[in-house]
Amino acid sequence: MSEQNTGAEIPGAGGSGTNPDPRNAGGRDAGASASPLDTVAADSARPSESTVRIGLVLPDVMGTYGDDGNSLVLRQRLRWRGYDAEIVRITLEDEVPDSCDLYTVGGGEDAAQKLASRHLTASPGLQRAVERGAPVLAICAGMQVFGEWFVVSDGSRAPGLGLLDVTTTPQASRSIGELVVAPQVAGLTQPLTGFENHMGATVLGPDAAPLGRVTSGVGNGVPAGQQVPAGGLVEGVVQGSIIATYMHGPALARNPELADLLLCRALGVDSLPPVEVPAVAQLRRERIAAARR
Ligand code: GLN
Repeated sequence: MSEQNTGAEIPGAGGSGTNPDPRNAGGRDAGASASPLDTVAADSARPSESTVRIGLVLPDVMGTYGDDGNSLVLRQRLRWRGYDAEIVRITLEDEVPDSCDLYTVGGGEDAAQKLASRHLTASPGLQRAVERGAPVLAICAGMQVFGEWFVVSDGSRAPGLGLLDVTTTPQASRSIGELVVAPQVAGLTQPLTGFENHMGATVLGPDAAPLGRVTSGVGNGVPAGQQVPAGGLVEGVVQGSIIATYMHGPALARNPELADLLLCRALGVDSLPPVEVPAVAQLRRERIAAARR
């Protein structure tokens, strides 16, 4: 696979017009597929054993920062490799299915993430999926919600899902800007790039490992009143099958290596055929350079 792939289906441009899938012709799926992401509903059946299902978790409340794009990137990178793949849209109105092959959760505002935490606690399909090792990508508020608890800007504290050994409290000021991270996870060799926009500082407990070391930006940050640790700032969390990060962008559009790591884990393969997308390479160069300014 190589550069001719850039002429393939443009992520997000599909809609029902370019996907004449009869499963999307009526009922709730029709509503779901009306989204620019061309999704299927949470209660739809897997169309075939071989279709890879990407669970898009609560885009109705955790879609503020464009992180829904992560699911699009995963689906497109699967399709480029010849896999059938679909995005399962899981909203506040749905029971959370535990049967997806991998999941993505985006960022959101303080109030939205409290709603998300309540719903994911009440309908614990994601927790069951994590228990069997399904890969999950959680962004920003998603990472905070996956922790033990989080304190938001108004000082109120809310329980998280307890999937990550982390807690979140406010920083002295909001972090907004380019983020560059040196990954510390096997399989990731390239710098990670993203855009951060958060008040929370996330502190890791002994069961959680950082995704990487911050080379530009703030990453997990430092709780108000505390100093940057001697070892420097760290970014993100890796624990079991969950990878969590403060990187928006969307993170997987900027970091194809991270996307393919999640896909390899979901598919149970060691590697996937390379996909070169010149526009992505260009975007990475530009954003990493912008972070240095
Ligand atoms: N509300 C959270 C914070 O400010 C998360 C923001 C986000 O998801 N970008 O820390």
